Amino acid sequence: MESRLLEILVCPLCKGRLHHDRDRHELICRADKLAFPIRDGIPVMLENEARDLRQAAAHGDPASGQPEQA
Ligand SMILES: [Zn+2]
Repeated sequence: MESRLLEILVCPLCKGRLHHDRDRHELICRADKLAFPIRDGIPVMLENEARDLRQAAAHGDPASGQPEQA
């Protein structure tokens, strides 16, 4: 069910397809460099909740780096 749900999800900003990072429980928009969190199986498609991968990139690999928690 979850994967079916994720298939229809698109980025709220650019309407592009999202990459599901199953290890980190995030939906990643590579165009916008944003990672939307999945909380309790529910994707949080809010720009202000998304993690900015451009900032994470400054600290290492954006795909496998640590979460950018302040
Ligand atoms: Zn996007």
